[in-house]
Amino acid sequence: MTEKMLKFVHLEQKYPHKREASERRTDFNEIYEGFETEAAADQSARCSQCGVPFCQAHCPLYNNIPDWLRLTTEGRMEEAYAISAATNNMPEVTGRICPQDRLCEGNCVIEQSTHGAVTIGSVEKYITDTAFANGWVKAPKPTQENGMSVGIIGGGPAGMAAAEQLRLKGYEVHIYDRYDRMGGLLVYGIPGFKLEKHIVERRVKLLEEGGVVMHTEFEVGRDATLDELRRKHDSVLIATGVYKSRDLKLPGVGLGNIYPALEYLTTSNRIGLGDTVAAYDDGTLNAKDKNVVVIGGGDTAMDCVRTAIRQGAKSVKCLYRRDRANMPGSQREVANAEEEGVEFVWLTNPEAFVGDDKVTGVRAVKMRLGAPDAGGRQSPELIEGSNYTMDADMVILALGFEPEDLPNMFEAPELGVSRWGTVKIDFRSMMTNLDGVFAAGDIARGASLVVWAIRDGRDAADRIDEYLLARKEAAA
Ligand SMILES: Cc1cc2nc3c(=O)[nH]c(=O)nc-3n(C[C@H](O)[C@H](O)[C@H](O)COP(=O)(O)OP(=O)(O)OC[C@H]3O[C@@H](n4cnc5c(N)ncnc54)[C@H](O)[C@@H]3O)c2cc1C
Ligand code: SF4
Repeated sequence: MTEKMLKFVHLEQKYPHKREASERRTDFNEIYEGFETEAAADQSARCSQCGVPFCQAHCPLYNNIPDWLRLTTEGRMEEAYAISAATNNMPEVTGRICPQDRLCEGNCVIEQSTHGAVTIGSVEKYITDTAFANGWVKAPKPTQENGMSVGIIGGGPAGMAAAEQLRLKGYEVHIYDRYDRMGGLLVYGIPGFKLEKHIVERRVKLLEEGGVVMHTEFEVGRDATLDELRRKHDSVLIATGVYKSRDLKLPGVGLGNIYPALEYLTTSNRIGLGDTVAAYDDGTLNAKDKNVVVIGGGDTAMDCVRTAIRQGAKSVKCLYRRDRANMPGSQREVANAEEEGVEFVWLTNPEAFVGDDKVTGVRAVKMRLGAPDAGGRQSPELIEGSNYTMDADMVILALGFEPEDLPNMFEAPELGVSRWGTVKIDFRSMMTNLDGVFAAGDIARGASLVVWAIRDGRDAADRIDEYLLARKEAAA
């Protein structure tokens, strides 16, 4: 029996009157349906209120975790929510998908003393779900309009967090997004089994109720240039994320049935949202009954393997050139994937894809970890003669993402970017080299996490406010 199931049985024994409700339990929730209140109180009470809040220090939002845990133990949920929402624009999202084992929970002193961390993320999720159920979460309505407007390019977590903060300060806020739905990777990247889509839609709706104007299917570069938006708004925030898939230059990479991760995940998310996608219906982007090989070791790879399992794949293998300890993905995600039947093929690199017009196999070679590189990380080395071929009807490339060529796309060649293509900002003002144009989230820091995008969005809203107020004062 897994650790998660044991926890559940323990709750069933502790609260026998809840047994029936427990049958409605959903997978992968740390706080099981039917036991939410009891489990949240149990978990919160485990916090030792140690006085050295490493958890808080390791949360990018500096969430006041010890205080909201104490209030949850005491059943003071509305106050717990107020404290949680004071630093976080979507705690119900971060509670579900933050890699807590690398952030707050990984640094909990109880974890360090080997007793298992307080499950901070699941309590955070519980607090906000309770707040929504009780109508405590309100649309961001300012007390006074200030007559200035901000255009935000990109409706992902960075853009959404900035929009809420700016709206509260009285700005007219417009979000422009090239997709048909707001939410960015929260909607089209992260799978629904980790983050239910109605949770994101609920936040988007609140922003709309608060007066944020949403322009969907509006691609900056196609429907307007950056310059046009600069003329329309007092300030512009670029929060476009990073979307260019990293290539793999190997023989056979052009064969059929080899797909970039985001194409596969977006299709699966669209199906979950009720859209019709021809490439799924005709079996092209559907893993059912296929031998699936996913290449990569990050969180995106984990999302792909777990999605393939849910689609009914015959087998799912994940190829990674280093070992388990050196995987960039969350160890919790790896454990979940293993529990669900994914086979991890560590220390293995693809050499070529084989097949006539469609892929039928992946030729792979075994690796060993050699001497540490300049960064102290052991470099993988080939083991000569260890090549072999594994069956594959579908290959998914999950090798990370890079920024698109924004200066070109936005018809703004003067926009400063780094050698990696990220938009360059002054780290104090968050402004780009163009006056009044700011940047936040993945497009400024490189592919990162939702919690960092929220943090950047909040910081950018503060910096934009300071800039516009100073400009107004100077003009007065
Ligand atoms: C598959 C996958 C799984 C992930 N899982 C997790 C996870 O479990 N936990 C976690 O913390 N992080 C996860 N991440 C990372 C996380 O999703 C990102 O760090 C985060 O979404 C970045 O937010 P953002 O607002 O900067 O950009 P995005 O969420 O990418 O949003 C950018 C938005 O800008 C829009 N846009 C782009 N160009 C234009 C244009 N020219 N005109 C108009 N609109 C435009 C896009 O349509 C998009 O909606 C995952 C990422 C991927 C790819
Ligand atoms: S936002 Fe993420 S890191 Fe911060 S407390 Fe919540 S789950 Fe932990």
